[in-house]
Amino acid sequence: MSTADHLALAAAHAAHNYAPLPIVAAHAEGVWVTDVEGRRHLDFLAAYSALNFGHGHPRILAAAHAQLDRLTLVSRAFSHDRFGPFCAALADLVGKDMVLPMNTGAEAVETGLKLARLWGEKVKGVPCEESVVVVASGNFHGRTTTIISFSDDPVAHDGFGPWTPGFRTVPYADPAALTAALDDPRVVAVLLEPVQGESGVIVPPPDYLPQVRAACTQAGVLLIADEVQSGLARTGRTLACDHWGVTPDVVLLGKALGGGVLPVSAVCADDDVLGVFEPGQHGSTFGGNPLACAVGLEVVTMLSDGTWQARATSLGVHLRSRLDELVGHGLTGVRSLGLWAGIDVAPEVGTGRQVCERLLSRGVLAKDTHGQTLRLAPPLVVEPDEIDQAMDALASALH
Ligand code: PMP
Repeated sequence: MSTADHLALAAAHAAHNYAPLPIVAAHAEGVWVTDVEGRRHLDFLAAYSALNFGHGHPRILAAAHAQLDRLTLVSRAFSHDRFGPFCAALADLVGKDMVLPMNTGAEAVETGLKLARLWGEKVKGVPCEESVVVVASGNFHGRTTTIISFSDDPVAHDGFGPWTPGFRTVPYADPAALTAALDDPRVVAVLLEPVQGESGVIVPPPDYLPQVRAACTQAGVLLIADEVQSGLARTGRTLACDHWGVTPDVVLLGKALGGGVLPVSAVCADDDVLGVFEPGQHGSTFGGNPLACAVGLEVVTMLSDGTWQARATSLGVHLRSRLDELVGHGLTGVRSLGLWAGIDVAPEVGTGRQVCERLLSRGVLAKDTHGQTLRLAPPLVVEPDEIDQAMDALASALH
């Protein structure tokens, strides 16, 4: 079937909740995606950072294949021999006591919110019905009804009420507004992306997260870091929070934790926080399943010696220098941390979407996130000459 045939079939029989770029992938390895027509493309989106190790990394595939032949699912009604090792290794990687595995990023966020309200009631004495979680403007934490209740993106939010109450939004990267919002005994937690991904890789000023940490400690509320997109080496550190020496109380992980093979997410915290859950209060049929744990354990093991983090840092310097050359030549702004960049396209060049279409025709996969902004997140296996190839295509697409 041709690309056009595939797209027509999908348009006829799949909901139109995406407007995909016109490529139908058939095969991929490392940074390269081959489409149904046999054309090869450099993947500069990496499934929104879920493919940090590239397509089909041999170690991850080997772990998955070995587990597929052994045991894939028992549900959490019973334990299995990959569960404890995965939880222990992940807890160790992020410096926490324990882990609650789920599947998708949104589920990890939902779990973190339930945890915050339960902790608030049990430990702080704030009735959960009255509790408040402070969030930031421009956030993206997922698509469930509770999560979009505090989204300020009208496309994600409007039309899906009634909303879940109990959230207060403050401007991102405004420590004074955050501190003022915490002056309320009903607040139990602050939920933040340390670097905002969907908003266009918004890196906060250097003193912001340390100030947030201090304000949360002062107010006695939990700092929940949504590292679903920023975590697991993408920014050059295991967690983006590590750049600022900030230790969140709760770390939410997803995307790359599943090695690009399957959805694996997790809530990580110390015993005095995550220990508040009792049997029956939360769960998931697939969360923490043997296949997910085997893959997640391999991912955690791969991340434990710092090699991937160092690679993201050095490649990120190269990507950034190439992007900086384009400022004033089709780009109006560049932000980045590690191998993760947000770029703003000058309006006279076209929309972000048009630039993505031109990149596609030049063999590079990238996605606009808001209007004029594109997010670049190649797999961390990308080579410097592949970055150069993509940047040459970008320079040409901006003309
Ligand atoms: N949190 C953040 C920071 C994200 O970027 C995303 C997805 N883009 C999510 C949560 C939701 O993850 P998922 O799509 O796996 O539900």
